[in-house]
This record gives sequence, C-alpha cells and structure tokens, in this order.
Amino acid sequence: MAEKIDMEESKPPNGEAHPDEPMSNGLSGPRHPEPLSQRVIRIMRENMLVILTVAGVIVGVLIGLGVRNVDLTITQKIYIGFPGELLIRLLKMIIIPLVVCSLVSGAASIDPKALGKLGGWAMLFFLVTTLIASSIGVVMAYIITPGAVSVTKPAGLDEEVPAHKEVIDSFLDLIRNILPSNLVSAAFQSYATAYKLVKINGTDGNYTVEKVPIGTDQDGMNILGLVVFAIVFGVALRKLGEEGEILIKFFNSFNEATMVLVSWIMWYAPVGIMFLVAGKIVEMDNVGALFASLGKYIACCMIGHLIHGALVLPLIYFIFTRKNPYTFLWGIFTALATAFGTSSSSATLPLMMKCVEENNGVSKHISRFILPIGATVNMDGAALFQCVAAVFIAQLNETSLNFIQVITILVTATASSVGAAGIPAGGVLTLAIILEAIGLPTSDISLILAVDWLVDRTCTVLNVEGDAFGAGLLQHFVDRNSKKDGVELSEVRLDSDLSPAAPEHSPLIEKKPARDRADDGKSESIM
Ligand code: ASP
Repeated sequence: MAEKIDMEESKPPNGEAHPDEPMSNGLSGPRHPEPLSQRVIRIMRENMLVILTVAGVIVGVLIGLGVRNVDLTITQKIYIGFPGELLIRLLKMIIIPLVVCSLVSGAASIDPKALGKLGGWAMLFFLVTTLIASSIGVVMAYIITPGAVSVTKPAGLDEEVPAHKEVIDSFLDLIRNILPSNLVSAAFQSYATAYKLVKINGTDGNYTVEKVPIGTDQDGMNILGLVVFAIVFGVALRKLGEEGEILIKFFNSFNEATMVLVSWIMWYAPVGIMFLVAGKIVEMDNVGALFASLGKYIACCMIGHLIHGALVLPLIYFIFTRKNPYTFLWGIFTALATAFGTSSSSATLPLMMKCVEENNGVSKHISRFILPIGATVNMDGAALFQCVAAVFIAQLNETSLNFIQVITILVTATASSVGAAGIPAGGVLTLAIILEAIGLPTSDISLILAVDWLVDRTCTVLNVEGDAFGAGLLQHFVDRNSKKDGVELSEVRLDSDLSPAAPEHSPLIEKKPARDRADDGKSESIM
C-alpha cells in the first residue's frame, strides 16, 4: 500500500516553531509566559550541544596556546591530538553505512518523478552557488593581489605536490570513478591515471616513445561511485514493487540505527573538536613567517569564504524563503564547528544530517537524500580557494591571464570541486587540474599546501554550509508545492511499517509522546 506523505515532519522549517512546541535551538518560546530563570535554563538545555561546542573551541585554543610554550617532543604533540583523532575515526566509521543506506532508502521512497525534480533543483542550486563562489574567488584575488609579494617556498612539501596529469585524464578519471568496477574496493580505493612510457618501433627502424595512461588504484574511498550506485540501486528497488520492500525496509532500519549512533557521537564532538583545535595549535610551527609571506593569500581566501558564507548564501536563502538565514545557521552550528575541526565534509555529514533535521525542520527524506550528494559534489569553499590559488600562482609567475583563461579557471574550478574528495586537502589535489588547464606550474602547489591546514578549515565550513542551505531551500520548495497542489515532490511511497522511526533526540531534550510522533511525516493517505 502506498501513501502520500507530507515531507514536513514534526517540526516546520526553521524559524517557524509550532506555537506550543519550542524549537530545539530555543529561539522561539512557548505561548504561555514563563519565568525568566526557567526560560534561561530551558534555552541553555536546548542549546547545550552548541554551548558545549563553542566552549570546546575556546578551551581548545586556550589549551593549545598554553601547551605551545612547553617544550614537547613530536610524539607528545601527537598524543595531545589523540581525543580529536578519536572523533574523526568515529565519524569516518559511520560514513559508508550512512551514505549508502540513506541514499538507497531515500531514492527508493521518493517517487521517481519527484526524485528527478528534487535532484535537478539541488544540482542547479549547487552549480549556481559554486559558480558564484568561484567568481568571488577570482574577484578577491584581483582586488587583494596576494601574488604581488615575494614568497619563499617552504621546504619539505614538494613531494606532496600531485604528479602531473593531463586535464583530459583527470576528467576521464572522474567519470570512471562514477562507475566503480568493484563496490567493495570503492569503499577504500579510487581509480587514478598514471603514465608509462612505451617504445613504439617505426617501419624505418627508428622508434618513438609514447606516454600512455595506465589505471592505478589509489587509497581513499570512491564516495562518488558509492553515491551513484546507491541512488540507482534505490530506484531499482522501488521498481521491484512489493518484492523490493523487504530490502527497502532493511536499508531504512540500517539508516535509522546509524542515525542513533550519530546522535551518540554528537555528544563526543565538543571534546573531540577541543583536542583537534588544541593539537593543531600545538603542532604549528613558524606561523609568523608563514603569515608574513602568504598572509595576503590566506586573507584573500578567508574573506572570500566569509563573503560567500555569511552574505551570499544567506541572501539566496532569504530571497527564496523569506526566513531568517542566520537562525538556520545557528541550527547547524555544531556541524559547522565539526567541519572547522575536522576539515572534512564527509566526516561532518552525519552531524549535519542530525542538525538540519532536528533544528531546522528539514525532513529526513530531503536531508538524507540531498546531504550525501552535496557532501560529495558541492564544494563552494573548494572552488573559491582554488580560483584564488590559480590567480595567485599566475601573479607569482608574472603571467597575466586573458579573459578566456579566467573563464577557464571558473569552469574548471567548478568542475574540479565536484571531483574533490571531502577529506582534508581534497581540494588542493584537484587544483592541479586548473593549473594544467591554463598552463601554470603545478610545483607552486607546495605554497598552497603550506597553509592549507588553515584555509581548508574555512573552506570545509563553506562546503558543508552550502549543502545545508541547499537542503533548507528544497524543503521550502517541497512545502510550498505540497501546499499549492498537494502532490508534486511530496509524493513518497512508504508503507506504514516502513516509516522511519522517530528521531533520536538529545538526552537533554524531552521526547514528544509517542502519540504525537506517530503522525510525524505522514499526513494523508492517497491509496
Ligand atoms: N577539506 C574539504 C572538504 O572536506 C575539501 C577541500 O580540501 O577543499 O570539504
């Protein structure tokens, strides 16, 4: 039996809490007057995770600055980062089951037409915002001219510069990775082209040497391949009808159980972030010298990230939804802090799902379908910093870029950000594609690597923020459409016994009674 369900779940989108039910971020109160002390306690309880995260960051900075002055060995510094390492391990552990199960059950539970529309709008949003971010990067680099200073190359980073690769091979690799030849190895390896020289004998006794591309497997999850497989598999399961329901049910409950794990991990996040921040501050050496030569580049990237993240994305969200975008940002604060601490969109994905669903009123169907795609292909921050880096390296090499080259930078940055993995320094690796495309030396990437530990943090925050706003906007469109004509994107097939369990709330927030929850996500029946 199929049901049409309202995509809107227990809570409406952010800023519109139910009159009787305070939003979990505490920005809107109950109808009846409440004593101030009780109100303060309630708001603190509702925002406990955010408060703990902010405290974690602040204490982490203080610990880092304090311990920095102590003479520590490299091993001791590694030990300081240990609790942070645990957070990253926990989040990484959850990525594959989360991405695969949420996409399979998401694709299987949404009507194919609605799925196409949802995916299409999401892709359009991701594309337009990434292009805007790239343009901001180019404009910032021309205004601030970070390459107008003389910089000395930091030693020891040259080996980390990616090997030369033809632009065409980079794009072919992207397509090959979309279709993994082995799903098991896609969980930890991806395809990468290398080259070998082949001697070709001519008829006249002479020979020529040809550089031939050969396929190699490199370490690192092929998340793009897993995402594509999971979506197609979900659609196929839906096509099976009743026969497929048992597997849909399996993926649904796997997904729900994973989200319960996420809600537990969330409470460790403040501690993990504290030690990630402290560990990084203790580890940094010679920051002064780095800032002296590359400070303008860092400023250029960070100001660009700030403009896009604090003005452009919120403005787009406001124009379409007329809701306060900063309330939305407040709701995902823990996820943003995790992105800052871990420098990884993939690792942030589990917490981001929890935050948008519980604080910003995005339905599970949307968040669990759009966010894994966004975390894989939508990287506004990466595109922005890659554009800054490309113009910066051109300036360093005193190469003036013509209009066609600037357009090439914008287009390749947008495309290569899709190929960038959501891991620390994922974007630096694909930066080589842009430099190759406009004929700049890739060896200069060592400069970018020297400061990437810092730039990558704001970059990752922006990457995940873009995904969250995308989910928020889609929720708005779905709500509007279901109000307007009742069907459209809200047509979702879920048997009553397939409906997802109620969200696992934080232990500090009282759960709604089961009677209320039973209505969540299922407002009317069509068959
Ligand atoms: N670290 C970024 C992320 O995970 C990718 C990048 O390096 O740009 O989103």
